[in-house]
Amino acid sequence: MESFIITQEQESRYDRHNLIDWWEQPKLKAAKVLIAGAGALGNEVLKNLALIGVGNITVIDFDTVSITNLTRSVLFREKDIGLAKVEVARQQILEINPEISVQAIHGDLEFDLGIGEVKEHDLIIGCLDSVNARWAINQLAYCAGIPWVNGGMGIAEGEVSFFDPNTEAACYECSISDQMWQRRNQRYSCQGLKRNIPESTMPTTATIASIVGAMQVQQALLYLHGKTGLLQPGEKIFLGLNPWMAFKVQIQRQEECMAHDLTIQPTISINYQPSLRVQEVLQNLEKSGYLNPTLWLRNEIIGRMKCLSCGYEEHVNKPLRQYPESELACPNCKLEERDFEVFSNVTLSESSQDLLFQDLYLPNNEILHCDTSQGQIAIQFCQ
Ligand SMILES: [Zn+2]
Ligand SMILES: [Zn+2]
Repeated sequence: MESFIITQEQESRYDRHNLIDWWEQPKLKAAKVLIAGAGALGNEVLKNLALIGVGNITVIDFDTVSITNLTRSVLFREKDIGLAKVEVARQQILEINPEISVQAIHGDLEFDLGIGEVKEHDLIIGCLDSVNARWAINQLAYCAGIPWVNGGMGIAEGEVSFFDPNTEAACYECSISDQMWQRRNQRYSCQGLKRNIPESTMPTTATIASIVGAMQVQQALLYLHGKTGLLQPGEKIFLGLNPWMAFKVQIQRQEECMAHDLTIQPTISINYQPSLRVQEVLQNLEKSGYLNPTLWLRNEIIGRMKCLSCGYEEHVNKPLRQYPESELACPNCKLEERDFEVFSNVTLSESSQDLLFQDLYLPNNEILHCDTSQGQIAIQFCQ
């Protein structure tokens, strides 16, 4: 007996998208989007990007899942408590859409994200909850020349803004008020060390996270299609849910804002090796005709710490702003707060003889300025 199989025309995952006349799924598949933060907003943004089929996603966050995240983080479950947010999020969105690729970076965006790494993306979406973290991603975005979408939320209000270093429009830093700077600076001691301040806990809910996250992704979607829609560069939209209202404002460009001059294009690249002496690279630069090189770091580094009481000495080699103020006391005599040296550049001087690249705490794929007698160059440290 003959059997017949009735085949319907095969439906594909993106069929409903393809009914939209301006939609270009291949563009989204090719897109590379960096998500800073995997909290409530990050969860919503990642979920939407995966559903939509954005092909290449990088997510960075230093935090682990806690029970309080479970009221508004669609990707986290009770069994995930204690695990790195980025790793759980990565696995969950791959389950939502196995056709995409996801890179998870469990780290601090201020110290663990190289400019070269950021440059590999088309767009950044900031899902952050502090002025400091937004300031840091704005710096990275402007160094790399990559636009970014910022989101923020309260209990029944939210905001989304859009910044593009390739325009003359205002950036996030332009919008930081004196009061916000003060709040940000409270995180550091007068010497610049990290203060142990408990993370602020903000009241918020899943509904506002969904709305703000969806608006961020809508902005991203339009941008990736080369469309302007929701927001122009330097614009911010405010949302109120109780009572319902929404309005847009143009953020004012501050002439003295330094972020707009940060954009850096690598002129040479060097193979990064943690065990390589920094001096060796500087000497090679001289051999290539770049005389008197001064390599500038993006983050100041604590070199040596010394106790003036007992003489105990230690090579710390950690970013200044990552070193806890509470660890300044001498571990040997416990009497004194230690003295320390800070450096923000390396030259061919005696004092930096033994410095290795690992002591500079460079993130993967970092790009740094280097002043030479022949002018300024920018070095990309490829891994
Ligand atoms: Zn600015
Ligand atoms: Zn001591």
